[in-house]
Amino acid sequence: MIDFIADNFYYVFLGWIILSLVQRRYRGRGDKKRTATLIQSILIFILYMGAVFIREEGLEKKWIVIPFVIIAVVLYFFRSKVIPYELKCRNCGAKLNMNQIFLYDANLCADCDPHEQVSEDESDDAEETEEDHSTESLKETEIEDRE
Ligand SMILES: [Zn+2]
Repeated sequence: MIDFIADNFYYVFLGWIILSLVQRRYRGRGDKKRTATLIQSILIFILYMGAVFIREEGLEKKWIVIPFVIIAVVLYFFRSKVIPYELKCRNCGAKLNMNQIFLYDANLCADCDPHEQVSEDESDDAEETEEDHSTESLKETEIEDRE
């Protein structure tokens, strides 16, 4: 098991980091889920480093219990932060899809989540127009300054 963790968990760790980068797209709606991914990646890294250390130093395999204990302690005290997922809608109990489970903080189904009433494309457009407005207002202030 030590070898398996030492050989593979670095890539698992990288995968988790990439996952958190994907989640960045949904910031504002999914900050808690993203924080959870980052904490999980740290825990994976601790396990990886523990296994590598044990192998490199030629320690007894039983010491792998230490990173596991660290992870267990973190899970015990910060369970809701590390595992903020719910499988069912908080409001009506409907099954949630993958996005709702892993990306959005609300833990609400499409019918209950006010954000879901706007489709993805429209929300993207809305963001763009917001940015447009801010640049426009910047330009306006520049013009005003010149006057
Ligand atoms: Zn619902």
